[in-house]
Amino acid sequence: MPPAERCLWCGGPLLNGRTISELLFVDDELCGKCRGLLTPIAGQVKLGDLSVQGLYVYDEAFMKMLVQYKECMDEALQNIFLKPRQDSLRRRYRRAALIPMPSSRAKREKRGFDTIPQLFFGLRLPVVPLLEKTDDYEQQGNAKQRQSAANHIRLIPGVPIPAGPLVLIDDVLTTGSTLRAAQALLPQAHEALVLAVNQRFLPPDPRPPFSFQRNKRGFPH
Ligand SMILES: [Zn+2]
Repeated sequence: MPPAERCLWCGGPLLNGRTISELLFVDDELCGKCRGLLTPIAGQVKLGDLSVQGLYVYDEAFMKMLVQYKECMDEALQNIFLKPRQDSLRRRYRRAALIPMPSSRAKREKRGFDTIPQLFFGLRLPVVPLLEKTDDYEQQGNAKQRQSAANHIRLIPGVPIPAGPLVLIDDVLTTGSTLRAAQALLPQAHEALVLAVNQRFLPPDPRPPFSFQRNKRGFPH
């Protein structure tokens, strides 16, 4: 795909807020000004046995772009989150299969596409859907049972689990409940990659460089 000549977010020239050399050597579909709206993070969040690599802080700017992509079915935007780091991430996870966290069937059918695999398409790594939401299949029960099923997932029966490393992928680390549930089903998975991380998991200034781990005792100070 030829590089976009205009920023996919503001429509302005890609050169906005960037030097000529950045324009030549940094492959991006956002201008420097719009790229600067997102807050990148480094380091990993520890979630039980899972090391979660996030790319951005889940803030208003990120949320706006993600909502524009998801709810407006604006597929042109699918790659803007990964783009600046996709080559290094592809190298890092080159032996892995990506396991998407499932979205509900209703949302999938409304959009006509499954957003999580699309958002990580730029990595060109195998995506293996192993998980599904149980509430797609268990619509019976009282309101409380349905509520508690909302986050419940299961292994899709009959799908073989790849032998190599598994990396769980999701758009946002919000409470961690989905990734924890997925890791309980796939204990061989030790890594997860998400586009954005809720501030609650991050130190006050998560911009790189920082080293940070959340352990069972809470946040080290
Ligand atoms: Zn822009």
